[in-house]
Parts: sequence; C-alpha cells; structure tokens
Amino acid sequence: MKTTLRKRYLLYLVRWQLSTPILAVCVWLLTDSLGATLTTIIANLIGGLIFFWVDQWIFRHTDIFHGGELWEVRDDLVCADCGKGSVRGYRLVKKAGYDRSEDRIPEFRCHDCSREKYERDGHGDSS
Ligand SMILES: [Zn+2]
Repeated sequence: MKTTLRKRYLLYLVRWQLSTPILAVCVWLLTDSLGATLTTIIANLIGGLIFFWVDQWIFRHTDIFHGGELWEVRDDLVCADCGKGSVRGYRLVKKAGYDRSEDRIPEFRCHDCSREKYERDGHGDSS
C-alpha cells in the first residue's frame, strides 16, 4: 500500500471513529429501555444528521478520497504536450481547490503526458 493511500486510509478510519461517542452515549442511555436494535437506529440517525455535514466538508476541502477528482476522458485526439495522436486522452476537471469545469478549450493529454503533468503539477491539464 502506497504511503499516500495508507495516510488516506488512516484518516478515513479516524473519521469513522468520530461516530463512536454518539454510539457509546446512545448505548449507555437507551439500550436498557429501547433494546439494541432501536438504540442502534437512533444512534445512526443522530450520526447521519451530524456526519452528513462533516463528510460534505471533508469531500469539498480535503483530498482524503483523492479529492473526489473528476476526470474527463476522450478518444482519438492529439496530445496537448507531445503532439502525438492518442487513442485516449485525459484531463483533470475538478478536485479540491481546483476547478476547470468551465474551460472553453480544454486540453487533453495522452496517458504518459497526463501522468507526468499530474506528478509534476498536481493536475493533468494546462494550468
Ligand atoms: Zn503526450
């Protein structure tokens, strides 16, 4: 497992643990009177009400899931960098803190050039 993936996985596990206090308090307060199933339903409802907003913030402001990257793929094009014809080309449209969804003339790159640019600049297109 690569270091960045391991780090994201660890952060994801930490995020899951944030729901533990809600579950623990509900189990402590309600299990005797409501039973395990109804208590779990209530705990998950409370957790959902809170973590909908927490997860939304995480998706928008972190790259924990690779930034929720949105890539566009096109077939049969000329690479913007090397100028070679490519069966398939790629461009990164959107990720946390980066949005090229309104580009009027998007540039696509072959696999190798896209990968090289992504590793160099953190994104796969021209800006
Ligand atoms: Zn290329």
